[in-house]
Amino acid sequence: MVVAGVVLIVLALAVVVLAPRVLTRSAWTIDHPRTALVSWSVAVLLGVAGFVAGIALVVLADRPLTDLFGIAASPSHGLNVGVALVAVLAFVVAVRVRPGPEHDAVREAMRSGAAPHREIAGVPVALVEADHALACAVPGRAGGVLVSTGLADQLRTDELEAVVAHERAHLSQHHAVAVAVAESIERAVPWVPGARAMARSTRVLVEFAADDAAARRLGRDAVRRAVLVADGTSALGVIRASRLEG
Ligand SMILES: [Zn+2]
Repeated sequence: MVVAGVVLIVLALAVVVLAPRVLTRSAWTIDHPRTALVSWSVAVLLGVAGFVAGIALVVLADRPLTDLFGIAASPSHGLNVGVALVAVLAFVVAVRVRPGPEHDAVREAMRSGAAPHREIAGVPVALVEADHALACAVPGRAGGVLVSTGLADQLRTDELEAVVAHERAHLSQHHAVAVAVAESIERAVPWVPGARAMARSTRVLVEFAADDAAARRLGRDAVRRAVLVADGTSALGVIRASRLEG
């Protein structure tokens, strides 16, 4: 049991160290963002599950099933188990997923009905009066897709539909959850190699995945033109536009 536990811990550490190297240095992730996102999740699950199972095997090795934690044999051992449980609990609290405060503001604006809704590409979209270019997706029952008039006015019909399809994909593929989990892990264990890489990768990969979903509905060219209008001055916007070329 102890050997199996140690092997599991070593394998889990190998996954945590190697997965970020593989996933941040591979060109295929640019063309297959959804596969890359799933790979990140699998790596995290394998790393955490392997580590926890390995520790459990080492701690519980050779203990009778009636007294797994050895509390009867030694009260101080029970204290150790208690400390370990508190540590796990503290980690869970540190990692817990928090929705961004900006989501609350947008959700409130949508709930209050301040923004008129317009159906675009079969999706009810809240059109917010604002000069700057803004489009976002707010998850949850009270959420939805929001586009500013400043952006809508600059876009042709198919480009606006591409923006809405992109935001819609963020909702249907639960990208907010993926980003929130990755950012929570980054906050909780910034010293773990790959935690920052995962957060950075996830933020980029969800944009690629949403672009691909929009491109399947409206064509790559409409999405590319929309990206250039909405986000053509940022580095990520330029990369998104170039991967939609041809
Ligand atoms: Zn997006």
